[in-house]
Amino acid sequence: MSGVVVIIGAGQGGLQAAISLRQNGHEGPVILLGDEPGLPYQRPPLSKAYMFDGNEEALALRPESFLAAKQIDYRPATAARAIDRAARQVVTDAGRIAYDHLILATGARNLRPPLPGIERTVDLRTLADARVLRRRLAAPRRFAVIGGGFIGLEFAAVARKLGHEVVLAEAGPRLMARAVSPQMSQDFADMHRALGTDLRLADPVAAVTGEGMVLTSGAVVEADDVLLAAGVRPNTELAEDAGLEAANGIWVDGQLTTADPAISALGDCAAFPDARSGRRVRLESVQAATDHARHIAARLTGGNLPGYAAVPWFWSDQADWKLQIAGLAMPEDRAEQPAPHVVFRFDGHDRLTAVETINGPRIHMKARKAMAAGPVDAAQARDLLS
Ligand SMILES: Cc1cc2nc3c(=O)[nH]c(=O)nc-3n(C[C@H](O)[C@H](O)[C@H](O)COP(=O)(O)OP(=O)(O)OC[C@H]3O[C@@H](n4cnc5c(N)ncnc54)[C@H](O)[C@@H]3O)c2cc1C
Repeated sequence: MSGVVVIIGAGQGGLQAAISLRQNGHEGPVILLGDEPGLPYQRPPLSKAYMFDGNEEALALRPESFLAAKQIDYRPATAARAIDRAARQVVTDAGRIAYDHLILATGARNLRPPLPGIERTVDLRTLADARVLRRRLAAPRRFAVIGGGFIGLEFAAVARKLGHEVVLAEAGPRLMARAVSPQMSQDFADMHRALGTDLRLADPVAAVTGEGMVLTSGAVVEADDVLLAAGVRPNTELAEDAGLEAANGIWVDGQLTTADPAISALGDCAAFPDARSGRRVRLESVQAATDHARHIAARLTGGNLPGYAAVPWFWSDQADWKLQIAGLAMPEDRAEQPAPHVVFRFDGHDRLTAVETINGPRIHMKARKAMAAGPVDAAQARDLLS
């Protein structure tokens, strides 16, 4: 394909798609639309290093000179308002942009539960959010956090390290429940409590007030700031308004193409068939966004490809612990702890579906390699420890 590729969303996946198109020899125009100002940046440091060092330069994914050299037509602060599929055009406030292929890389936004006082909370999704939050870390404060997922916990660890008071409320009975085994949840709960974070599990927030928050149990948590970290919802509206199917993500096939062959979707906004479980999943990770982008670019420049089948992986830094997950476990997958800070997950056929480690990069890398090579049984899984 040698025509115009328009990419909506200039985050981790959108920029990678543009770069990979050029790396694969695409010579036609590549137009990258982002609704945020400034250069495309990475989000992971926002809840980690950036909170300590405030280094915004370190966040940029590529310098402006790189975009110019690669002839990536990056248009910041330019939101796509609509997709006209019949005319193959994207509508922006500055006019219409014609495409031959369109890549949707619109990411996700913070989920806002319909709680009284929710408008009083602060978010941690964008650089603009992170700037606000970081300023508040400058003086001793009491922070309340809604949500015991990765972002809430990473922020809690940072705030404790800087000497602030932190109360974190999680609606469910355990931390990071969507992503890790009960054993890992427990290890992390113990670690955060040892850091001094006041964890309130299985006690959903009922309201946010001028003084902090009130939990369903009736407990009152006094706080100067309440961070909302209760998950995200994918930005699917553009696709849905254009008649494309979406349910927890824009639906794509094993080639990451929507029902319209001229439109692909990737990253946080895309729901794709997981090659191993066969289920439709949506992942929120740098790995998924960038591997999706590489796959789409290879397809657009090279033709026939086997279906997308990259092994998912993820990391989260919380205090001195680096959690790494190789693979993708389904909620019902059995968990086994063969060594401290290592958990194997197995499906109903005793195939390894995920390996969770804390500060175990070697095992993590071996697991990724082994799972990429083919199914791994229980005996082969034990070899990962040696
Ligand atoms: C604080 C934080 C910490 C994280 N830590 C980790 C981590 O440790 N490890 C990890 O793997 N992942 C982490 N993630 C998740 C990771 O950043 C995302 O999964 C990844 O950025 C997804 O890439 P994406 O391209 O799909 O979306 P994004 O990078 O979010 O980019 C989407 C972009 O599209 C823009 N957009 C949306 N609609 C439009 C429109 N209509 N027109 C133009 N532009 C539009 C959005 O504003 C955004 O800039 C973290 C995320 C956050 C917020």
